[in-house]
Parts: sequence; C-alpha cells; structure tokens
Amino acid sequence: MEIIELFKNVKYPNFQKDIVSFGFVKRCELAGDIILMDIEIPAASVEIANAIRNECEAIARNNHYKLELKIIQPKLEEPEVKRPKIKNLAPQIKHFVMISSGKGGVGKSTTTLNLALSLAKLGKKVGVLDADIYGPNMPRMLGAENEKPVVVGNKIRPVKAYGIEFMSMGILIEEGQGLMWRGSMVMKAIEQLLCDVLWSELDVLLLDMPPGTGDAQITLAQSVPVSAGVCVSTPQAVSLDDSKRALDMFNKLNIPVAGVIENMSGFICPNCDIEHEIFGKGGALNLAHEYDCSVLACIPIDLSIRTGGDSGKPISMCEPNSIVAKRYEEAAFKLIEFLNTTKADNSSIQPTTNTPACH
Ligand code: ADP
Repeated sequence: MEIIELFKNVKYPNFQKDIVSFGFVKRCELAGDIILMDIEIPAASVEIANAIRNECEAIARNNHYKLELKIIQPKLEEPEVKRPKIKNLAPQIKHFVMISSGKGGVGKSTTTLNLALSLAKLGKKVGVLDADIYGPNMPRMLGAENEKPVVVGNKIRPVKAYGIEFMSMGILIEEGQGLMWRGSMVMKAIEQLLCDVLWSELDVLLLDMPPGTGDAQITLAQSVPVSAGVCVSTPQAVSLDDSKRALDMFNKLNIPVAGVIENMSGFICPNCDIEHEIFGKGGALNLAHEYDCSVLACIPIDLSIRTGGDSGKPISMCEPNSIVAKRYEEAAFKLIEFLNTTKADNSSIQPTTNTPACH
C-alpha cells in the first residue's frame, strides 16, 4: 500500500471529496518512520489548513508515524477594496475631506455645503468638489446654476460663491443633460475635477461623493491623500445600517473617520424652542461608538435649510445666528480639530474670523 492511501479519508473541509482525490497532496513519502508530506490547497483560510493538519496528524499518529507536513496556501485574501496607491493630483490643497452617505436623499450635499461655509466662517480657505456626478445639485444650492465655466489656458477656474471655491459636473454639463457614466468615465471625470480645475492653495477641499460606495470613492482615494471621512446620516439610515456601509468604506480605504453628522435628527419647535426627537435618540452616538469616532453635530429638520438650498441662500450664511447655523459651525470646529490631530497631515490650521457677506 502506498503511504498516500492513508490520507484518502481526509475530506477537504465543507466538501464530500478527500484531499487525495482533489489532487491537493503534492508529495507524500516515507523516510524511516517519518511521513514527508506537502499539501497545496486553494483556500487562504487558517481554519481550513488547521483542520486538514489535525486530521493528517491524527492518522499519522494512529499508524505510528511521525508527520512533517507543509501546507501551501495562497496569501491571505486582501480586503475587498485594496489600499490604493495614492497619487496627489492637487498638492496645493492641505486637506481633502470625503463626505459620504450610505444612500441618497439624507441631505449629504446640503450638509457638505453648510459645513464648507462654516469652515470658511472659521477662517479656512475652503473648496467644494461636487463629485456627486450622478446628481450634481450643488450649483443650485449655491445660486450658481447659471454659472458658465471660465477656461484659462487648458484649465477651468472654480466658481466662487460666499467666499468658497466650488466646482461641479453640474457646471460643466448642460442643465438636465443626463450622462450615462461607466466606471472609466467616472475615474476620468473625477481626475479632471481635481487636476484641471485651478483650485487655490486651500486649507480644506470637501469632496461631496455620490451616495454608496463605488468607483468615485475609490478613484478619489487613489488620486489624493484623504485626511478625513465624514458620514452624513439620518436617524432612519442609522437604523437601516446604510450608514455603516459608508463608514466601512472609509475603513477599507484607510481614510481616518472624523465622525458622523446626523441630519434631520429632530425638530426644534419654532414656538417653544424645544427639540423633539421625532425619530428617537442615540442612533448616531451608537454608530460613532461602534466606529470609534465622534458625532460632529446633529442637524434638525428645518424649513429654512430646504428653502435656503432651493433658492441658493444657504442657511449658514443667510441666517448665521440660527440654531442650525450654530450646529453646522460646531461640526466645522470639530472637523478642524480632527484635521489638526490626524496623522494624514501635520499642518496645523488655526480658526480665525472671516465671514463673507450673503448675497
Ligand atoms: P443628498 O445629497 O443626500 O441626496 P440633499 O442635500 O440634496 O440630499 O437633500 C435632499 C433634500 O432634503 C433637499 O431638498 C434639502 O433641501 C433637504 N434637506 C436636507 N437637510 C435638511 C434638513 N436638515 N431640514 C430640512 N430639509 C433638509
């Protein structure tokens, strides 16, 4: 009997077939009382290798042999999204901050814009790249929907509104003109929005991402060193795990998570100023605990946020003393603190006061 026959009962874990029939045993020789054995398996799993090893050892022992077993495996699986090799297509910008949400309609663009304006109020030089190429609605929120791109040489000048710089696919394509985006086009568009736009030497560029976790996020993470990720969520999205997808994506892309902004988190009664937690309390806080980050702010539902967005008069600028504007400022302040301590960039940026006028 050939020595290999002994191992015909070792089933490959989770299969009916044994390792010999599968052809996984590459070498099986007897040297005195030692079995020299090489097994090559297609799985990277440590558990599978250990299960096979234990069975083979037991068989060798029961037959009074020693076993010298080598199990050859592929390297451990890489995480789903590999750590990309980072270029820096816009080195004049100190910090890139990715704003994401697990799904659309949670108020991500509204939050990005008001956060940008609040950062500007704290004295930062701020830009917003509306990378939500599937639904660029920021031009309207800034009152810039009729802006035509100004071309200088072979570059485009960003639009300036309320003291911040801004560029969006919505400015580059005709209104209502839908585009079918393939993965490669998304990558190209995003790269161009970074390096073909004449961004100034900004402290922070906020990247308003399309909802979900797709090509745009990966392309950006490969194109610039992203210092921080911010997840915008609603209480309902928190409970539906939508936000976890955005936070998981930051982790997979090695983007430090600055925190969660809970939007539409409650309602402040205009008559009595009491905040009603319509959708319950604590969702964002639990999420932040789970992902070891902070709640940057809870933004209530407020009619002025919507009307301000629709009419190009963002609440952070046009109602700067409102509770909502103060909440956005709180988020901006915490974000600056995070950027000052994050390992991604050591440059320290101190808040000063500089409030551009509302037009
Ligand atoms: P997203 O970018 O996630 O798709 P938007 O920022 O476009 O979402 O917001 C969707 C709609 O909700 C817009 O009409 C916006 O004005 C409104 N909205 C966002 N946040 C609030 C809020 N806190 N209170 C009231 N309306 C809001």
